[in-house]
This record gives sequence, C-alpha cells and structure tokens, in this order.
Amino acid sequence: MLPTDATPSGSQDDQLNGWKEIATHLGKSVRAAQRWERELGLPVHRIKTVAGQVVFASRREIEAWRRTVEAPRDEAPPDAPVAVGPVRAPAWRIWWTRGAVAALVVAAAIVGAVLSGRVFTPERPVRFQLIGQDLEARAGDGRRVWTYRFPADVGPVSAEYERPQLRTVQVADLDGDERQEVVVLVQKGATSNRTTGVETIDVFSEDGRLRWSYAPEMAWTFAGRRFGGPWVVLDLLIAGAPGEGQIWVAYGHHTWWPAFVVRLDAGGRASVRFVQSGLVYGLGYWTHAGRRYVLATGVNNEYARASVAVLDAAAPPAVSPQTPGSAYWCDNCPTGTPYRYLLLPRTELSRLSKVPYNAGVAVGTSVSSVQITTREWDTRDAAAMYRLSASLEPESVDFTDGYWHVHRELEAAGRLSHTAEHCPERTAPQEVREWSGEGWRPIEVPVRLALPPGGGSR
Ligand SMILES: [Zn+2]
Repeated sequence: MLPTDATPSGSQDDQLNGWKEIATHLGKSVRAAQRWERELGLPVHRIKTVAGQVVFASRREIEAWRRTVEAPRDEAPPDAPVAVGPVRAPAWRIWWTRGAVAALVVAAAIVGAVLSGRVFTPERPVRFQLIGQDLEARAGDGRRVWTYRFPADVGPVSAEYERPQLRTVQVADLDGDERQEVVVLVQKGATSNRTTGVETIDVFSEDGRLRWSYAPEMAWTFAGRRFGGPWVVLDLLIAGAPGEGQIWVAYGHHTWWPAFVVRLDAGGRASVRFVQSGLVYGLGYWTHAGRRYVLATGVNNEYARASVAVLDAAAPPAVSPQTPGSAYWCDNCPTGTPYRYLLLPRTELSRLSKVPYNAGVAVGTSVSSVQITTREWDTRDAAAMYRLSASLEPESVDFTDGYWHVHRELEAAGRLSHTAEHCPERTAPQEVREWSGEGWRPIEVPVRLALPPGGGSR
C-alpha cells in the first residue's frame, strides 16, 4: 500500500487563478470552495489591491491540504492495528519540492519498519496550527499531542502587509532525522499602538521543544540613506532534500523598498544571499542539471518593473543590478551578481492604473517549467504569467481570463480603443530584459494566444 502522495505533482501549471478555477479543480461549487476555506483551512492566497482582492491557489498546496483533511476519514476503522496510522500520507512531505521520490523512499522505509515489528507511537503529530498564542500539534486522527504556549506578547504576524505566498507554519525534516521540524513565523513585542513587533522565525522539534529562533538585525545603506528595519517576512520557503533542508526567507522593509533574502540552515545559522532595491514577494526553488536555484520575484523600484532574480544556491551572495550613483545603489551590500536577473514588461492594464508598475508576486513550478505571476494592483483576478524553461530561459507569457475581462471592461468604458482580440499585447511578443553584467539585453517572448470564452476564440 503506497501512499497517494508519492504521485508527482504532474505537468500542469501549479497555479489556479480565481475562485472559479479553484472550485473547478476541486470539483465543487465556488460557494463550497469558499466554505472549505473558512471551515477546513483550504489554502487560498490573496493579494490585496486598491479595488479588491486577487485570489489564487496552488494545486500542489491543495493536494497536500486534501490529504490532511481526508486522512482522518480515510483512516482504518478503530479496531485496525494502530501501526497503520503513520504510514499514511504525512502531509508535510509535500513541502519538499520535487520530493516525491524522497517521500516514496521514506514511506517505504516506514512500511518496512512496520513489517519488521518496530513500534511507532500512535501519538506522532502530523498537523500543526498557530491559534492565538498556542502552537498546537495534532495526530492524524485530530487528537492534540502537544501545545506550546507563547508568552503574552507573541502572536500571529500582522495582517496589514501583502504576503501572497506566505505560510506562517510549515513542517519539514530539515536535519534528516526522519522527524519533522516545525517552522513557525510569529511576531514578538507587538503592542496595541505598535502593531508590528519583531517578526521571528521559531523552529520546534516534532515533540514541541523550541530549538532556535531567528530575527534579522540588518541595516542596508543606499546612496547614503540607511534602512535598518523593522523587517517584515514577505515569503518563507523550505527547500532542499531531507537532511539538507534550508529555510529561505524574503524580508522587506516595513515602510520602504529595500528587501533581502536570507538562507537559514537546520541549525539556524543565517546567511544573506541577496539584496534588492525593491520588495521581494515570492520565492521558488528549482533544480536543473544538478544545480539548485532559488528564484526571488518582486519589483525593482529603479526600473519600475516586475523583477525576477535567479540565485544559484552555491554562488556568492548577490545584489540587484542598479545604476551607480542612483538612489538605488547599495553602499554596503554583497557584490555578487545573480545567476540571472530579469525585468518583465509593464502591462497595458498597469499603464492605465494609478500604480507605476506591476510586481512579481509568485513563483510556481511544474515538472518542466517555472512560472512567474505578476499582478495588476487595482483589478481583480487579472495577472500575467511568464513561463521560464527548465534552464530558466524566459519562454512565453500568458494572461489570465481575468486580465481579458478587465480589458473588455476598459474597452466598454472607452479607455481602450482596441479589442482584446486585436490587443497589441497579444499580437506582438513581449520584451523581457536580462542583465548581462554590463547592460540590459532584450529577450522577446511570444504571447500564448488564449482568450476567455464570450469574447473571442479560445
Ligand atoms: Zn490591449
């Protein structure tokens, strides 16, 4: 009996845009999907915009969630041997990007151990949740195994920042002992008149002991201007094979634009890997030809464009390419260059909005490609998605149905003089720029010609 989570995530795109796509993926109504989010914790991400929210979800996360909520119901009847329990789908395994094979191997090891008569505690926690000041660990059948109560001034991080990809509780076997560590993001020292405390990463062992904590004390100087925080966590990614687990964290200034990416090892040792003149909203992990990469997408404020930094995990720390002498030139940052650094073109809808740029908000991965999602700030469910090849070359761009929906609204309102079918953004390639080390080189990427039904061909 192999656990179902040994199945790879498939070759489809990972991201689901809007409630309709999420509901379709679940085979449920939009209402049911929304109820599942409220009542069962269906993982749905939101980006706050001026006019409302953009909603999206990850197929991978939904599958992981589905296994978590279905596990108790699927569980063998109460009189079945209790050792069967731990064999079933530890949901956290899914967090290892491309970890399907590893999950299979671990599951096989557990099956082997059960067959050889080794005893498993039925009280091994598989679900972890931060509720107010309590970190709760529950077994697969929902019973509480332990609770860690934080001090009174510690609690969930502020909801006032836009953090589309962030999950504040994640589990992974960082150190390779076949027991998961629990990585929890909290804020410490928040008061009623100071809503942002010190955002801190606390790492617990599976049995509920606090192993280590991390909060950065960084100050970056750009053209003589010093930025010393507070730093807000914008995304937190666990990557690497079990036993070589690394926590990658994107920090942004709570008010201004500087951002940086830190790598933490299993013991909590921190290393700054990247500094950017602009916020970083999303991190992703990718391996290709034996090399490991972390992608950091956000916005570069000097160029007012969505940005993608590709960091070779083994390379020296890097800084985003900026113009010497400009306000965005960093005086005390690392001096390496990212493996790749891309600027994505501003969309037509963005040019019609009040916000001077799009921002990269999410990095999704499938079996053979990486997808960068850029957002529109003041429209609902409208986004562009850039596809990078396995070797991380920009390949194509697609626009969501919501994008063309907004386009048609603007046509109807007389703010656009062409139709979606004849939109120059569809009919001409888009120009991505890549930093060459000395300057920017253009890369033309074709637009995939899909339009939503109702207005044209699909
Ligand atoms: Zn157009």
